[in-house]
Amino acid sequence: MKEVPELMLMGPGPSTVPSRVLRAMSKPTLGHLDPRFIEIMGETMDLLRYVFQTKNEVTLPMSGTGSAGMETVLVNLLEPGDKAIICICGAFGLRMADIAERCGARVVKVESPWGYPIYPDDVQKALAKNPDARLLAIVHAETSTGVLQPLQEISRLCKKYGVLLVVDTVTSLGGVEFRCDEWGVDAAYSGTQKCLNCPPGLSPVTFSPAALERLEKRKSKVSSWYLDMTMIRRYWGQERFYHHTAPVNMIYALNEALQIVKEEGLENRWARHRQSQKAFIAGIKAMGLDMLVDEPYRLPSLNTVKIPDGIDDAKVRGALLKEYNIEIGGGLGELKGKVWRIGLMGNNARKRNVIWLLSALEDVLSRLGYNLERGSGVKAASLIYEGT
Ligand SMILES: *Cc1c(COP(=O)(O)O)cnc(C)c1O
Repeated sequence: MKEVPELMLMGPGPSTVPSRVLRAMSKPTLGHLDPRFIEIMGETMDLLRYVFQTKNEVTLPMSGTGSAGMETVLVNLLEPGDKAIICICGAFGLRMADIAERCGARVVKVESPWGYPIYPDDVQKALAKNPDARLLAIVHAETSTGVLQPLQEISRLCKKYGVLLVVDTVTSLGGVEFRCDEWGVDAAYSGTQKCLNCPPGLSPVTFSPAALERLEKRKSKVSSWYLDMTMIRRYWGQERFYHHTAPVNMIYALNEALQIVKEEGLENRWARHRQSQKAFIAGIKAMGLDMLVDEPYRLPSLNTVKIPDGIDDAKVRGALLKEYNIEIGGGLGELKGKVWRIGLMGNNARKRNVIWLLSALEDVLSRLGYNLERGSGVKAASLIYEGT
């Protein structure tokens, strides 16, 4: 294979993978029913329960990326003709609606403009009009816009109307506070390549007892064979009923990435993401740049910075990559060409990355004619890390 460079991946994912995780991945492949591998599977499930903050028995990594997790949750919990309330304020809400429609569900949309969260009042109205809905699905961390969605009020409303709550935690798990059980979430899914710093390829999912009850009461078979949780839970459970071959080495990688999270402690990790976001934004503002999202809804793990007028998006991203080995993301969908998406995910939410990126950005922007005081961004960020 060709040589590939070591980069600082600070876009919307994948994020930089620590060498510890890459080394775990290169350990010898075991048989997927080998007792030593079964032990690793069990340990991985326990670690996932920790990062999801749940006691849910069915908590496991699906073989596929984050989108496979999204499809898993929806295809298992929806039957043709079911009504589903889907909250949309960015690209991933749109993807959920697309999948729910493909499941044969009648989709009711609750929408907000891109860059804003979903408001509980709108959710309340949708639930009151559609009390027969099976589930409500919402994105916790909208990677296309950089919005962090508050969940607790919406969860309370779902409980009141007896509707299952499904949450996309792809860009929040392991980086931003999420408490599955305490917040009354019935099913959640995530990805490995965002705040968990693992290569893409697995999608952790968790199903509450209420979600499993729904699954057991289905009248029709789950329409996807590969993602059918009624079978997959038997493969990951005591029975070891063969369904498909688990991607053994990917599970090594996830196990190691989760060990790293546990060693640091979730709370410490959440606080570190918040602090790095604070430093990063202080730097961005000192450079005269603006954030897309209003303060209370800014997502620590993914920051959307408005591209200043007259600055060429592609030139900036190209120079960061070529001269500094830093990858950042461009805008997606409606925000294409309007924002940069800057990930501070997992191990990248650290002073060294924030300062490196800000100084690179100062250099590139000022060379492209953007008027700024060199050193201003770095200084403002470093003051935050010093606690002043
Ligand atoms: C990245 C992402 C996904 C999709 O994950 P893939 O691994 O690309 O399939 C889904 N939802 C959100 C919020 C994401 O950020």
